[in-house]
Amino acid sequence: MSSDGDLFLIAAPSGAGKTSLMRSLLQQCPKIALSVSDTTRPARKGEIDGEQYHFVSVEEFERGIADGDYIEYAEVYGNYYGTRRDRVEALWGSGRDVLLEIDVQGAEQILRSHPDVCTIFILPPSMAVLAERLRARGSDSPEVIERRLGEARREIAACGDFRWMVVNDDFDQALADLLAIVRAWPLRRQRQQAIVDELLDESAGGGTITD
Ligand code: 5GP
Repeated sequence: MSSDGDLFLIAAPSGAGKTSLMRSLLQQCPKIALSVSDTTRPARKGEIDGEQYHFVSVEEFERGIADGDYIEYAEVYGNYYGTRRDRVEALWGSGRDVLLEIDVQGAEQILRSHPDVCTIFILPPSMAVLAERLRARGSDSPEVIERRLGEARREIAACGDFRWMVVNDDFDQALADLLAIVRAWPLRRQRQQAIVDELLDESAGGGTITD
């Protein structure tokens, strides 16, 4: 894939507060658009097709895999989730930067195909706080919470390839950290090289340097 837009990837264990942080990030950074993933899991109450996910059948998803339509996909809790290449390219084509909210398996695939991606992992301040947040949601049974905690440990153990780590202890601080990362990312050397080249071309052309 090639593009002029940037690619951001955010992953976090369930309960780390990723969804609220991402919502605020997107509000503050209108140039960034979230790529809505395909999934084969059924829609939960209140979820709308095309908003949280595009809900597709297993047959449709497997056809997409065979046709190479996904830049990454993974099986999570027995369901497929994946990022469609055409959706990401359409967003880039409209001048936006793209944010992916995917799991660590998907992140590994993206890093292989697209190494110049800004990878951010959101961490809870402690496992005790994570457990408390999952309990406070009140939506999961103790067994499901235990399973999610085990999954969180595995995800945290696999976050070594991520470039940035944001600890979500205080929400405002975590959001400020996230904003600092996405604002600094377009200023990295590889992205600014064209400007450096232009400046050097200009001065090589015999211009007078007055300052
Ligand atoms: P949920 O079903 O709770 O919305 O999401 C379950 C998990 O699937 C989360 O860890 C979420 O980050 C991950 N996920 C959502 N969309 C994608 C995707 O497009 N690709 C991959 N690899 N994971 C995804």
